[in-house]
Amino acid sequence: MAKQPSYSFSKLETDEKCPFAYKKIYIERIPRAETEPLVIGKMLHELAAQYLDRLIGAKLQTDWAWAEQLTPKEAPDDVFEIWPRFFNSFILPPMESPGVELKLAFDRRWKPTGYFSDDAFFRMVVDWTYRQGELVVVQDWKSNRVIPETVEINLQLRIYGWGVREATFPTAQEILLRLHFLRYGADREVILLPDELATVPDELDKRIAEIESRKNFEPTPGSFCGWCGVMAHCPVMAQAIVPVNILYPTTREDAVKAATLLLAIQTMDTELKNNLKRYVKENGPVPVGDVVYGPKVSISYELDPKEITDYLLNDAGLENDQAWGLLNLTKTNLERGLKKLRRKDLIPKVLELAPSKPTESIQFCKVK
Ligand code: SF4
Repeated sequence: MAKQPSYSFSKLETDEKCPFAYKKIYIERIPRAETEPLVIGKMLHELAAQYLDRLIGAKLQTDWAWAEQLTPKEAPDDVFEIWPRFFNSFILPPMESPGVELKLAFDRRWKPTGYFSDDAFFRMVVDWTYRQGELVVVQDWKSNRVIPETVEINLQLRIYGWGVREATFPTAQEILLRLHFLRYGADREVILLPDELATVPDELDKRIAEIESRKNFEPTPGSFCGWCGVMAHCPVMAQAIVPVNILYPTTREDAVKAATLLLAIQTMDTELKNNLKRYVKENGPVPVGDVVYGPKVSISYELDPKEITDYLLNDAGLENDQAWGLLNLTKTNLERGLKKLRRKDLIPKVLELAPSKPTESIQFCKVK
């Protein structure tokens, strides 16, 4: 007997963002290339889950030394930057009934079932959930570059809230959904009420019926292109950018062509941005699929380390190592600061105080 199809939010999202990508990944079962955003997200989720398991198991609020040794030897640069920022500022809150990377599944009638059961029709993995008295918290790690001002209570969040309530905390009245943006250590929260969860099974039935009756699988370029992992098979991208053999080189000749192209792209990048910015200033934002290239306002803060540590230690009552751990001192900042003070002579001595380790990145460098 043919295996029943099963669904997940990422399957629904793929179909919504680009039906062509859905067809390639889930119908033709073409293996997805590991795009850098996918690798970064996956590694950070795994690190956070292992660290949480450690803290919960050992009944600790922090364990920076343990987290430090968990740092992978090889990873994209973003992981080396984001991971220490996360564990240096994370403090495990008091909680009951925690679940880390909680695997939940539902059958066709939307009743909880085993994640690996034959009747599992819809599956989800919840990053972290726990109870604090009457409140149930569902936390999702995000590795996105953009943090929304407010959280839109969309289907994905309601699926998580509904799933956790149905399978784990059936009497929960309110669910706090917290998105933690790992890149910036920032949270966005929203409360999910029973009314907002009641329609989830009907909405899922409707979306799944749409997918199962779909005949047209057009590529729809947009923000999802960086994540889809099937760009090499995409007719739109092949025409728009580069032949597949250069995008995914397997011979030295193609690799040289790919490196030459990368060099050209890096040079063109600034030029392209400057010209496009000029165009946007004169003519307004430029939409591409579900994204738009246009002005974005952000707020920057000139944080004074002395003032902030004084406040955290004396007024907010944090311990010395907690407060100092929040200040992210980088070699570049230090060098810049000491050069400004005309005390470059102190740089080698200060660097000697810190443990150092070599990291490798692949990039263009001068031939020696
Ligand atoms: S590259 Fe973009 S348009 Fe092409 S399959 Fe992927 S998501 Fe769809």
